[in-house]
Amino acid sequence: MLSRLRPGELREALPSCPPEKGEPLRVILADVERQILPGITHWNHPAFFAYFSITSSAPGILGEMISATLNVNGMLWRTSPAATELETVVLDWLRQLLGLPEGRFGVIQDTASASSLVALAAAREAVPGLEARRRGLVGQARLRMYTSEQAHSSIEKAAIVLGVGQEGCRKIPVDEGYRMDPDALARAVAEDRAAGWTPFAVAATVGTTSTTSVDPVPAIADICEREGLWLHVDAAYGGTAAILPECRHVLDGCERADSLVVNPHKWLFVPIDLSAFYTRRPEIVRSAFSLVPDYLRTPEDGLAPNLMDYGVSLGRRFRALKLWMVLRAFGREGIMERLREHLRLAGLFRSWVEGDADFEVMAPTPLSVVCFRALFAGRDDAEHDRLNDEVVEAVNATGEAFLSATKLRGRTALRLAVGNIRTEERHVRRVWELLNEAAAARRG
Ligand SMILES: *Cc1c(COP(=O)(O)O)cnc(C)c1O
Repeated sequence: MLSRLRPGELREALPSCPPEKGEPLRVILADVERQILPGITHWNHPAFFAYFSITSSAPGILGEMISATLNVNGMLWRTSPAATELETVVLDWLRQLLGLPEGRFGVIQDTASASSLVALAAAREAVPGLEARRRGLVGQARLRMYTSEQAHSSIEKAAIVLGVGQEGCRKIPVDEGYRMDPDALARAVAEDRAAGWTPFAVAATVGTTSTTSVDPVPAIADICEREGLWLHVDAAYGGTAAILPECRHVLDGCERADSLVVNPHKWLFVPIDLSAFYTRRPEIVRSAFSLVPDYLRTPEDGLAPNLMDYGVSLGRRFRALKLWMVLRAFGREGIMERLREHLRLAGLFRSWVEGDADFEVMAPTPLSVVCFRALFAGRDDAEHDRLNDEVVEAVNATGEAFLSATKLRGRTALRLAVGNIRTEERHVRRVWELLNEAAAARRG
């Protein structure tokens, strides 16, 4: 499942020049099988447990094909009214499924990284008197934004892109459950104000990438309201869990967020790429991004939204179609059933780890990702890290399953992420067997 290609192997096998004459599709398709497929790591495989396990589904694939067939560019309302209007409707459906209040403006971005960039650009736009759009940031107040030590790298990357800089992105410590410490946040903001910084935004995470920890958004929202900071919530993976009534609490407090991102391409069976960006202040997003040259003016301006006004790129794929098809084909019930099964399988795996003295869990499991490691009696921390790296590589080398690792408090942790629509209990059992074999082989 993990591709066995060596670096450079496909590049060397392919002709270095383009063909002079066209080739038959039959020949090209044969090469897709022969040359391309061996270089594919199979994200759609049921034993894909690495990173965040994501899947496409039949309705999503069909939506993608229809979108390519029609080749719509939804930059303006008139360049395909159905693209803009379906996007508006389907994001409002998703808002309802997530239990978010009305009055949220939703727009689709390609990735959560883009959604968070748009959110933080709007936050910067909202700083009184800054006028970054017109004046840039040179010689201006030093902006500071806050996120936890466990936040996704895309938040810091947005700080780099927006001219806030890495120094302008302060990482707040986390508690024993890897959640942002709101008291530390409040202290950091006060300290920075006293030192002449201009705090402007907080990015909280619902479902961090390493452990799926959920930041205490209600307490963070209190601080943002008191301090006049834009609250952005990165719920790229974890937000989807809120579709389940028993997990709705993961989005507690998010009704107070200025912006929020959830990725249906993560845990909602929509083929990559589809990130849902919500804001309750669309006029600020628009004033950050709208720039309309003469050749893009239309008679409908002001009557219907032109979605190019809410992000970086002008051209926009017709992504709403695949989300609409998935939501219709599965319905709320079908989605809930699949999410519940993933949570059950993660819980089952966790119970095996907990019940085995040769392994230990390394973080709480709020959603469908289990962080754990194999134990090796008499070995120090560095050896544990090295041996666990070897265990995961040995399992991946079997080609039967694919796991990834992270660091928690400096130590190697293996991650089992359940989220693939085709994953069954037998796949989880098999990866547990493989882990046990790989660990046992290193205990001697
Ligand atoms: C996956 C993930 C991202 C990045 O998502 P992209 O859509 O690949 O940019 C950001 N934040 C969190 C919490 C994630 O899990």
